[in-house]
Amino acid sequence: MSQPLSQLDPEINSLIAEELERQRQGLEMIPSENFTSPAVMAALGSILTNKYSEGYPGKRYYGGNKYIDAIENIARERARKLFGVEHANVQPYSGSPANQAVMFALLKPGDTILGMELAQGGHLTHGYKLSFSGRYYRAVNYGVDKKTHLLDYEAIRKIAIQEKPKLIVCGATAYPRLIDFAAFRKIADEAQAYLLADISHIAGLVIAGVHPSPVPYADVITTTTHKTLRGPRGAMILVPKIADRWHDIHHATSKKNLAEMIDSAIIPGLQGGPHNHQTAAIAVALKEAATPQFADYGKAVVANAQALATALTERGLALSTGGTDNHLILIDLAPQGITGKEAENVLDSIDITVNKNLVPYDPKPPLDPSGIRLGTPALTSRGFTTEDMSQVGNIIADVLLQPKNEEVLASARVQVKKLTQQHPLYPEL
Ligand SMILES: *Cc1c(COP(=O)(O)O)cnc(C)c1O
Repeated sequence: MSQPLSQLDPEINSLIAEELERQRQGLEMIPSENFTSPAVMAALGSILTNKYSEGYPGKRYYGGNKYIDAIENIARERARKLFGVEHANVQPYSGSPANQAVMFALLKPGDTILGMELAQGGHLTHGYKLSFSGRYYRAVNYGVDKKTHLLDYEAIRKIAIQEKPKLIVCGATAYPRLIDFAAFRKIADEAQAYLLADISHIAGLVIAGVHPSPVPYADVITTTTHKTLRGPRGAMILVPKIADRWHDIHHATSKKNLAEMIDSAIIPGLQGGPHNHQTAAIAVALKEAATPQFADYGKAVVANAQALATALTERGLALSTGGTDNHLILIDLAPQGITGKEAENVLDSIDITVNKNLVPYDPKPPLDPSGIRLGTPALTSRGFTTEDMSQVGNIIADVLLQPKNEEVLASARVQVKKLTQQHPLYPEL
């Protein structure tokens, strides 16, 4: 059992090495991905994975948790401080279970939830019919305006008043503009609903101050830790104010406050032992995220997305909403006569990784949609500048405008290679 991985399991070892090379040699433009730091990976790959610690610091079902308690307390404290919230739960295994825990805490099966429609930029866990959120709850959806592709808060308000949801979910996976959390709060107040802000995609931007924070408005906040936050795969549930204003209305008989309800929804409600290696890695990521360099990073992510949007637009590509305020862009390829799947494949062939995506009101099906979604968090972590992003935009435009031109593809490949060499990834590994 003391053999190194390369000897014990050369097959897995070499696949990891090949994946590292793939990450190094391509342009990673899936907006939900990022490159976490070697420090975060050191914590993630540590002996902490060996320990069981069901429960919370000071209240465990297992012995031997002196150091684990210290680690989890540090992670919770850093999360509280960084986001300015009263309570943080750092144990959710990932973003989807975090949302499940919030619903498990606040709702009963059959209660109504109102979330953004998957096909218009929402997440599976915001009420999609095949997800737990659409099967155990009565899910109703809101979308974006047909013309502008922007959230239409008056339309959302009307749905909320009509459907009387107990929980409204705001936050998205494919929305390139700012989310007005204050407007959602107003709607939630009028509908007497809890407001959950799922900032999985934008948490790093919120910390950097380039996206408004939901903290003054939401009852509960969920976020993954591996997207713009640039930590390990994982998630957190944040409670801005433990004394929630609708709490008494919905839970007049419960003696638990909002934070206690969230904690007990995670364990014993949904999970067993926390992933302590993940908790430690989240703590390290939160320390990094509290630095001025991280604020600069967040600003650069948005500046890069806007440089990319400008380059694509100048080449005649159609962006949903006409551009971006955040880290991502949605391109509608219908005018070019190619599908999202074809675009994903041709970009893949020149080592640019994006994902095919529905555009709002897409006439095509989810597995063969009209658009692609691309973002700048990962390339910005590699040190790409706005000039680099303009070049990337032009490479993408070259290829999408002439996907069958071998000369164009060959030149694109050369340019991609050069850019990856200018910004080496994990030179220390
Ligand atoms: C990514 C994401 C999630 C889910 O996170 P997983 O870790 O993939 O389960 C939930 N909500 C939103 C808005 C997301 O973008």
